[in-house]
Amino acid sequence: MNDIQKKLIEYLESEHKFTQMVLWNDERLGLQISIIVDDTTLGPGIGGTRWRPFPTRTEALVDNSRLARDMTHKLAMALGEDTELAQAGVGFGGGKAVISGEPTRDRGKRKEQLTAYAQLINSLGGRYVTSIDVGTTVEDMIMMKEVTKWVAGLPHEMGGSGDPSPATAMGVVWGMKACLEAVFGTQSFKDRTIAIQGIAGKVGSSLARMLASEGAILLGSDINEAGAQQVAKEVGARLVPSDQIHHQQCDIFSANAYGGVLNDDTIPQLRCRIVAGAANNQLWEPRKHAAMLHDRGILHAPEFWINGGGVINVAHEFHPQGYSQDRAFADIKRIYNRGKEMIETSRKDKISLYMAAMKLAEERVRRARDGKTAS
Ligand code: NAD
Repeated sequence: MNDIQKKLIEYLESEHKFTQMVLWNDERLGLQISIIVDDTTLGPGIGGTRWRPFPTRTEALVDNSRLARDMTHKLAMALGEDTELAQAGVGFGGGKAVISGEPTRDRGKRKEQLTAYAQLINSLGGRYVTSIDVGTTVEDMIMMKEVTKWVAGLPHEMGGSGDPSPATAMGVVWGMKACLEAVFGTQSFKDRTIAIQGIAGKVGSSLARMLASEGAILLGSDINEAGAQQVAKEVGARLVPSDQIHHQQCDIFSANAYGGVLNDDTIPQLRCRIVAGAANNQLWEPRKHAAMLHDRGILHAPEFWINGGGVINVAHEFHPQGYSQDRAFADIKRIYNRGKEMIETSRKDKISLYMAAMKLAEERVRRARDGKTAS
């Protein structure tokens, strides 16, 4: 058995049992789909649809299961009991779908495929709500909305929450404030130096604008040089080569590009007190590298906590009174409160923030599950 196969078995046999796994093949439409509803204790499993090729079916499933479990933890952290959405009786668990293969470019065929996929989602009776991820677009969600109501991430003109990236960036800013307070005793960005990896990206550029307006000194990098120069000019950031951004002397290193950026090679090179950014799966090996950062005295903000702003915004489409930016943003601000709680747990239990966040998320799911069992 290879490592990928072992990971799948680990997920299937894990103590925290998944709710539902759907594997669907349609040879005529050329579709190979998996939907994993990881946990519905707090509500329907929500998570985007990833459409990209995978070398094997097992690899697609391993990615799907990891992403679905991450969503369970993310939603448990993002929509705590104190949020406007939870108070309105709406909660979400984790889910994720994978369409394995090259995304179809032909619009007619794509519509036929997405219609069939939306019908598959309907067959789950509301247990899974989908949205955008790598390989899927707002246009896809609009198309699917004609067939299923279990779709989120729609444009404002359709009563939706619009592009999630500024909401994600706003959540990162609130998360950074909790980290700054823990490390420097003040949440002020004034004269703090922040190195943004992926400054030309959707989240990175929004974040740069927000931090510049709060008085931060910005460094940035992006492989999209023209885009980076444009953002840098706008916000007054100094650009550095992409392979050097993580070892700049700074207060916060903010990864907003790709996963696996914190590993055996990069962690010893960091010259910052805090690592806080939106990129998913920043830790190459989560437990090991979270501990390495903790041992170096660097506060690492777990991404499933700090990048929850986008999913909070999207989830508000299901508020009983419809989407309201004011309500959604009030909940995004609560990322700060959750951070304070997590930092306290980490200090009290002498564990990394990653382990503290996992503990809080798992405890919240367990509390809700026990409550349901008792009633
Ligand atoms: P994006 O594609 O718009 O931005 C990524 C940026 O990173 C691009 O500008 C790209 O050129 C740059 N980049 C790629 N490789 C790089 C490298 N080696 N060095 C420097 N820059 C590099 O994506 P995004 O939507 O802004 O998302 C950024 C990250 O945040 C991703 O990991 C994503 O999964 C995560 N995330 C995004 C959201 C959201 O709302 N968009 C929500 C949660 C998590």
